[in-house]
Amino acid sequence: MPASVAHSLSLLEPPAPRLVGIARLAAAGESLSEGHDVEYFTLPVKSLLNRCTSPHVPFTWTINPYRGCEFACKYCYARYTHEFMEMRDGVDFERKIYVKQQAAWLLRQDLKQVKRGEEIAIGTATDPYQPAERRYGITRVILEEFALHAGLELGIVTKSNLILRDAELLRRIAEKNQLYINVTITTLDVRLARILEPRAPRPDLRLEAVRKLNEAGVRAGVICAPVVPGITDDPRALDALVRATREAGGRYIFANPLFLKPCSAAIFLPFLEKEFPHLVENYRRRYMSRAFLPASYRKRISSLMAALRRKHGFAAREAATRIPESHYPLPEETQQLALF
Ligand code: SF4
Repeated sequence: MPASVAHSLSLLEPPAPRLVGIARLAAAGESLSEGHDVEYFTLPVKSLLNRCTSPHVPFTWTINPYRGCEFACKYCYARYTHEFMEMRDGVDFERKIYVKQQAAWLLRQDLKQVKRGEEIAIGTATDPYQPAERRYGITRVILEEFALHAGLELGIVTKSNLILRDAELLRRIAEKNQLYINVTITTLDVRLARILEPRAPRPDLRLEAVRKLNEAGVRAGVICAPVVPGITDDPRALDALVRATREAGGRYIFANPLFLKPCSAAIFLPFLEKEFPHLVENYRRRYMSRAFLPASYRKRISSLMAALRRKHGFAAREAATRIPESHYPLPEETQQLALF
């Protein structure tokens, strides 16, 4: 292309956005793995604990050792976290993974703000045991710091059996703190899990992690989230999952319906068109003007799960003290529609 044409074209391009805050830090990150499908970058953050102000979640603080998640679940709502770094195509979230630096030192400083009874949730917007953890060990470093403290309330959410690497460390933390391990399983169907959660470990491996953690003295249960309408919400499939959780020694199981923010709909709807075309129209109608399904659907799932927990002998006391049947903001109670 002649230089004059290239120059004219460059004049037509919008100016690059001025990057501030986390977007500026991400842009300065150093590539740790060029040439691989997934690229890792350093992220020199200023704090590790984030205060969560939503009244609808049971925790006050969150920790995400990484930004982005290689497991690439089609329904993932956390893709928006890359938008803060000016990466808006949704796919960067699963291909550009940011590794937080100086985690132990930051955590030590940040913990001074945490009051008694305030729960800290690890892995709310990225999986703390995704493949990056094998290489960079940020979650491990964080847990080693927690092992030096007492009286904290901690929860970890993961889809990975890599957590078993830290079983002994978790047991030590649980001796002096309240610790729950929430293993996410959306379906027992391996084929379905492979297309919904392409790079996450198989569901049977996750169940095995639940079993081994409990055997090691670490309290672990299952979160079935999201329940994907028309795909994973068959009552027989949920019944099988609750039974399998019980048989694996899981202490509790909860479920939450899918919600679709625009950033997750951009990935999920094309997935639906490819794999479940008969559901597309229904989804478009239901999620067109809001991210949540109606309260009636959420209540149906909630009642079904309560009945299944009773049927399979889950302790009511454990259920009552654990996470309510929503880890996420709830839809308006006024939205009453029948669906699916
Ligand atoms: S494991 Fe969690 S954070 Fe990672 S892609 Fe799946 S839903 Fe998103």
